[in-house]
Amino acid sequence: MIFKQLFDTKSSTYTYIISSGKGREALIIDPVIESTDEYIKVLKNLDLKLVKVIDTHIHADHISGLNELSKRTRCSKIMGEYSSSDVIDIRVKDNEKIKIENVELISMYTPGHTDCSYSFLMNDRVFTGDTLLINSTGRTDFQSGSSHDAYNSLFNKLLKLPEKTLVYPAHDYNGKKNSTIENEKRSNPRLQVTSAEEYANIMNNLNLEFPEMMDIAVPANIKGLTLDQIN
Ligand code: FE
Repeated sequence: MIFKQLFDTKSSTYTYIISSGKGREALIIDPVIESTDEYIKVLKNLDLKLVKVIDTHIHADHISGLNELSKRTRCSKIMGEYSSSDVIDIRVKDNEKIKIENVELISMYTPGHTDCSYSFLMNDRVFTGDTLLINSTGRTDFQSGSSHDAYNSLFNKLLKLPEKTLVYPAHDYNGKKNSTIENEKRSNPRLQVTSAEEYANIMNNLNLEFPEMMDIAVPANIKGLTLDQIN
């Protein structure tokens, strides 16, 4: 099993490269466009054939590498069915299988951070996008976010997974690489609530600034821009 977690320092984004082994098919989750060469190098070194690339949601803080990777490798671009992207090849619904050679992911519709947010379960681990972060959760104040939907996605979906399930988020701002459902249930401060109203109350009072890149990143990710179109 090949499992690589790469980090983009500018946007604190985690990108995942997954394959069942050297010389086999690979998939990438949440790539950052500026790191495309790095991904291609990893793929080459391990003799991997990139066949699928997934974005968990339309990102507001960086331009996705989805379209550039697809342009260079002809891999299929995958997002959830409600994605506003113009360039998606495969739109998955809740509880669908995404397969490459010897690897299977199951899609989980987990709206709240955005209305298009999906998580992806792979055996002992789950890629939570910005729905569940380590010791935090994704903001719900733009891109059709909803704190009530987020509460439902967290408490009725992600936290219902087996407690030992490893959590791999799309971002971390404190150097943490992963967590477990058990840890998050126990110590994530946002999850120590007893109702959707209580959760909404926390989320509606965060007073966060909008991401610096938002006005550039969101339209670029909807149009699916490649490197030559952003430079
Ligand atoms: Fe996000």
